[in-house]
Amino acid sequence: MNYFPAFFDLDGQRVLVVGGGEVAERKITLLERTGALIQVVAPKVAPGLLQRAAAGKLTLAVREFVPEDLDGMRLVIVATSRRAINRWISTLSEARNIPVNVVDDREASRFIVPAVIDRDPVLVAICTGGSSPVLARRLRERLEALIPAKIGELAEWLRSLRAAARRSLRDTGERRRFFEAVVDGAAARRFIEGDQQGAQRIAQRLLAGVSAAPRADGEVILVGAGPGDPELLTLKALRALQDADVILHDRLVPPAVLDLARRDAERICVGKSAGGIGSSQEEINALLIEHAQLGRRVVRLKGGDPFIFGRGGEELQALTKAQIRFSVVPGVTAATGCAAYAGIPLTHRDHAQSVHLVTGHAQDEDREPDWRALAGPSATAVFYMGLGRLEHIVERLLQHGAPGSRPAGIVAQGTTAEQRVVTATLATIRGAALRADLKSPSLLIVGDVVSLQPSLSWFDTESAASLSQSA
Ligand code: SAH
Repeated sequence: MNYFPAFFDLDGQRVLVVGGGEVAERKITLLERTGALIQVVAPKVAPGLLQRAAAGKLTLAVREFVPEDLDGMRLVIVATSRRAINRWISTLSEARNIPVNVVDDREASRFIVPAVIDRDPVLVAICTGGSSPVLARRLRERLEALIPAKIGELAEWLRSLRAAARRSLRDTGERRRFFEAVVDGAAARRFIEGDQQGAQRIAQRLLAGVSAAPRADGEVILVGAGPGDPELLTLKALRALQDADVILHDRLVPPAVLDLARRDAERICVGKSAGGIGSSQEEINALLIEHAQLGRRVVRLKGGDPFIFGRGGEELQALTKAQIRFSVVPGVTAATGCAAYAGIPLTHRDHAQSVHLVTGHAQDEDREPDWRALAGPSATAVFYMGLGRLEHIVERLLQHGAPGSRPAGIVAQGTTAEQRVVTATLATIRGAALRADLKSPSLLIVGDVVSLQPSLSWFDTESAASLSQSA
């Protein structure tokens, strides 16, 4: 993060604006809404500013800037058309520790002014780190379309409910649940549609209901986080993340997904790295039960889909024993995610009539998969595995009759910007993987469908393009 996002209370504070043109005027229009005491210095000023000065909205000094103008200022905005002067004022402000913004000069600015959606008291600010004002404006337009015009009034109304909520609900968790019910439900909808009385009635009913109800039971929601790209989350998963009190997540869950969770949700990493240490399954089960028994909403977040090599079933069995309520939100599993982003259709009428999802992690000889079936023609086999298992898998397939010419591909860090795809054949895949120096996690796909990859590849990461190899 290049900038610390903060909202500055300028009510009654002195702010200096150097410059009297159109640009300065735009900043002043924004400043006026904050109740700041605005001082403008410029040798030449736009008529609009003269009018504002006459109306007592700002103080105007029609002359060149002098260093003493900075005395007692909380904030400085510099908007003259002369770069050298702008920079000089910036240096002077810096020396006095006064936050300074030079319009269109990021380097000379201590703070920058975001694009805003002002639905007072709701304020949405968009910052691109100074890299693209146009992008910021486009984002603002898109967000504006999403945010109801009445959101500001809604916020005021919610504020007005706080005293009543504090009186009736002593527990902070209960209060949060009450407000979630208001914001997510019919009350807020009615309010936005203009029926304020109806909204108030519903809120009162909720308030009575929540305080009368016994303490809500905890629950566990087993959520699939998808293979990497946060946009592959389901809407349900997003909702669960935003409602969670506690999130127990695997190491495979990307930070960008965790960023989508409620800010003050407790996050606990319980994952193992390949072969590394982490919480044991018993410890994870115990943690899930413990948090749920405290009445919390627990999200158990797993990479991909929780029911595919995710031990989701084992965790639910433990919850059943402890009589804890649970639900499951499926996720895009690595096989479908990686196949899609690599351009490998897992089935195809000409090439594959079935798909096997196989764990390549299994060490136990007794639990070896049915290699003969996997080696057979007209099937696609997808191996969830560490790269260390590649040799073993390829050998077994060859031993059980798969031809060395069968197409095989590895997708590493699939669906992320780091995705790499290597395609070869069973005979050559080990060498190709070695040369490509792939990083985990990775997936092996074996079957004729892999031969389609070069022509169907669409996901554009530069490295994927340059490293993709054909046998
Ligand atoms: N429940 C998960 C799988 C967990 S097992 C799911 O449904 O996807 C972990 C294995 O998944 C890794 O060893 C790797 O083989 C595979 N995997 C997970 N994410 C991946 C990704 N982004 N790219 C390639 N393989 C991935």
